[in-house]
Amino acid sequence: MKPTHIEHIGIAVKNLDESIAYYQKVLGLECYAVEEIKDQKVKTAFFKVGQTKIELLESTDPEGPIGKFLEKKGEGIHHLAFAMDDVSGALKEAGEKGIRLIDKQPRKGAEGLSIGFLHPKSTHGVLTEFCGK
Ligand code: ZN
Repeated sequence: MKPTHIEHIGIAVKNLDESIAYYQKVLGLECYAVEEIKDQKVKTAFFKVGQTKIELLESTDPEGPIGKFLEKKGEGIHHLAFAMDDVSGALKEAGEKGIRLIDKQPRKGAEGLSIGFLHPKSTHGVLTEFCGK
């Protein structure tokens, strides 16, 4: 496997609107999409920085993954997503290399992309996502 670039950086935020304002007014980036992902219990907002996106994640349920993350760690970087040509093959390969997988098979993420996560206990502390078409 070989990631082609950093697809996005996922950042957990308490308030999506306030965070969007920061990225727009201070950094001068443009929010081009806001999307709720019901099964992840999040609302997301996207910005582009070159080829890489910033994905802001606001929890819609304190029991969801971002709700729990915010309670434990507060706001901040939540995960790092690598662009992969073949998400399914990359997950399989990581599993074969002894990495603990959160997703053995790709599932549908934001923007209709195929995604899968590796467990941070296996990746030196970084919740890692593979992301592709
Ligand atoms: Zn992500």
